[in-house]
Amino acid sequence: MTDRNPVGATILGYPRIGPDRELKRAVESYWAGTSTAADLEETARTLRVNTWDELKAAGLDSIPSNTFSYYDQVLDTAALVGALPPRHTELGLSPLDTYFAAARGTQQAPALEMTKWFDTNYHYLVPELGPDTGFALAGSKPIDEYVEARKLGLETRPVLLGPVTFLLLAKAHADAPEDFQPLSLLERLLPVYEELLAALHSAGAEWVQLDEPAFVADRSAAELAALDQAYTRLGGRPDRPSILVASYFGSLGEALGTLARVPVEGLALDLVTDPTAGDAAAAQTALRDKEVVAGVVDGRNIWRTDVDTAMTKAATLLGSVGRLGVSTSCSLLHVPYDVDRETAMPERLRSWLAFARQKVAEVVLLGRALRHGQDAASVVDELARARAAVADRGSASDLREPRVRARLDSLRPEHAQRGDYAKRAGEQQSSLGLPALPTTTIGSFPQTDELRRARAQHRAGQLDTEQYHAAMRSEIERVIRLQEDIGLDVLVHGEPERNDMVQYFAEQLRGFAATEHGWVQSYGSRCVRPPVLFGDVSRPEPMTVEWATFAQSLTDRPVKGMLTGPVTILAWSFVRDDQPLADTARQVALAIRDEVHDLESAGIRAIQVDEPALRELLPLRQSAHKEYLSWSVESFRLATSGISDSTQIHTHLCYSEFGEILPGIAALDADVTSIEAARSRMEVLSDLNAAGFARGVGPGVYDIHSPRVPDVDEISNLLRTAVAAVPAERVWVNPDCGLKTRGYAEVEPALRNLVSAARQVRAEQ
Ligand code: GLN
Ligand code: ZN
Repeated sequence: MTDRNPVGATILGYPRIGPDRELKRAVESYWAGTSTAADLEETARTLRVNTWDELKAAGLDSIPSNTFSYYDQVLDTAALVGALPPRHTELGLSPLDTYFAAARGTQQAPALEMTKWFDTNYHYLVPELGPDTGFALAGSKPIDEYVEARKLGLETRPVLLGPVTFLLLAKAHADAPEDFQPLSLLERLLPVYEELLAALHSAGAEWVQLDEPAFVADRSAAELAALDQAYTRLGGRPDRPSILVASYFGSLGEALGTLARVPVEGLALDLVTDPTAGDAAAAQTALRDKEVVAGVVDGRNIWRTDVDTAMTKAATLLGSVGRLGVSTSCSLLHVPYDVDRETAMPERLRSWLAFARQKVAEVVLLGRALRHGQDAASVVDELARARAAVADRGSASDLREPRVRARLDSLRPEHAQRGDYAKRAGEQQSSLGLPALPTTTIGSFPQTDELRRARAQHRAGQLDTEQYHAAMRSEIERVIRLQEDIGLDVLVHGEPERNDMVQYFAEQLRGFAATEHGWVQSYGSRCVRPPVLFGDVSRPEPMTVEWATFAQSLTDRPVKGMLTGPVTILAWSFVRDDQPLADTARQVALAIRDEVHDLESAGIRAIQVDEPALRELLPLRQSAHKEYLSWSVESFRLATSGISDSTQIHTHLCYSEFGEILPGIAALDADVTSIEAARSRMEVLSDLNAAGFARGVGPGVYDIHSPRVPDVDEISNLLRTAVAAVPAERVWVNPDCGLKTRGYAEVEPALRNLVSAARQVRAEQ
């Protein structure tokens, strides 16, 4: 090895929205026109500087930079390499406004598509590329931020999205030939990265981090060859910083050998998701002259690290690799800032948790322990405290409820089994008496300012529970009357009482805790506050029955009960890591099952259990799909079985790209599945057929993500496509997703058109 400074103790990235969501407020006020670009830049600069100061003070050896973003790091990369679509660059806006136009769209130029970042709940903007895309270094953000830190006396390691992952995350733009693959642009893109590396080098950067997480998923030989080609070429340049290639969210598999061989100086591995990744790396002799950064502190969950396990994992690499660094498993973007602020949380629970700030300290501690030994004076006390916290959690008896455990033990396959579908369908038809092509909605109606105010006032104690409930009841009544007037067949109560479809349930279930400041960026300026699932889950009392029965009391038409499914509750929470996810899923499923049962007993004849996150948790590697689908499907069925054949179970899925979970959707055995389909023009129906799906299906007939009101013809044409693909007696008519983010000015005419279209196509049957 040369005498370059090691990466040592580091993190792969840090939250950027601000401990008090300062960036959210700053960008939203800029968008609203109430502050200037200079104000926004000032807030951004303060956030960057504070982050660097904090990381420096914590004692990291290498501090990342360019982890800041106004909106999204993939969009940053597209802007940096000059690959924003012409529809945005030709608007004649400033670079900042062009960037926001690509992120959010304008009247004439729709935004880039947004999709999930691997298996996380973070969303990135999908670059649109084609054979005509030319790349050029079109910005200097990573260099500017490097220089900005350097002026403060800090040497940082700029973080860039790697060129191969960038292309693999992109999609072909609308005019590209059908067989066009963004990866074919690699040769054209690499010179831009070379230029960027050279510029960082001349600015003084010692290291640069290039993220290539796409290689923890299954990749073709051609894709692996592209990785080889990219880093052979970039690594071959003399005028560049040392390169750390970072992988995360899984293990590299075959790509490990490639990255071990190419001329780069460091490799960051996720040893949390795959504990065997250390052994695999130790076996690569080509890593003997590289630095391997062991990601042993979980960057995605919020539990304190078991320091002994972490040191053991890292130590598998000692002696086998050139140098050993230590890090988080991925960027800390996915966890909140600081657990010390959670003063309302039970103290004991808080003592088991580590948010971003605490995780940085853990990395520093582990780095010192690995370097100086566990008995060194600088680490011995802190290691003891870390061990004590983990041991305390391990021995806490109230994390395990004997009743929940006994119930789990007594489960038999028949508990996740409903009766014959044909019989169910017949009984449901006599109970519900619906016309052909029944119309319904996905659950939520627009969340008006008035509703948000009522919730906030209730929280602040300005509205007492009685007043708050009265406000909600009057909203429910209004929504029921509106739906009757529009002529919908299966009604909903509109979900006015729900702050969020997971939080609402987490607040009422045992085993969950809420945070006050635990915000995590979901996309752009949008943040979520995932609950912490820390112990055995059970449902002390009904959670939705009062609202559902009130709604049903107002009308003769069936009102759907509305619940969130176990997989989605897990996906959007921080989940205990001391037992298999499948066991936790079963516990949540039993709590939902209790609610389903109580809704049925209270006279609710149709119950929807939403699973929009079923796709999100799908493992990145195919080899793990079967097991995942087995427990996730089972938990849904457990939640929705044990009821009368005449009770109709609905489910709802969104975020398209169902591909690999289609067989799982069929296996859910829901009587009716509503599914996002408008944007893909009903294509999902033939995919469902091919996967053996043969239940009721409500392909969304209009896209609620857009403010456009679809006209009757547009909807009836989609319905004709639907009844051509699926027997009409199984087709339902509904929007794509819940209506909570829309306004009544669009929702009302859209639903009226939906009902007219359904009547039209019904008459043709
Ligand atoms: N029932 C929920 C709603 O209508 C479903 C939300 C979702 O699909 N994400 O808002
Ligand atoms: Zn949805």
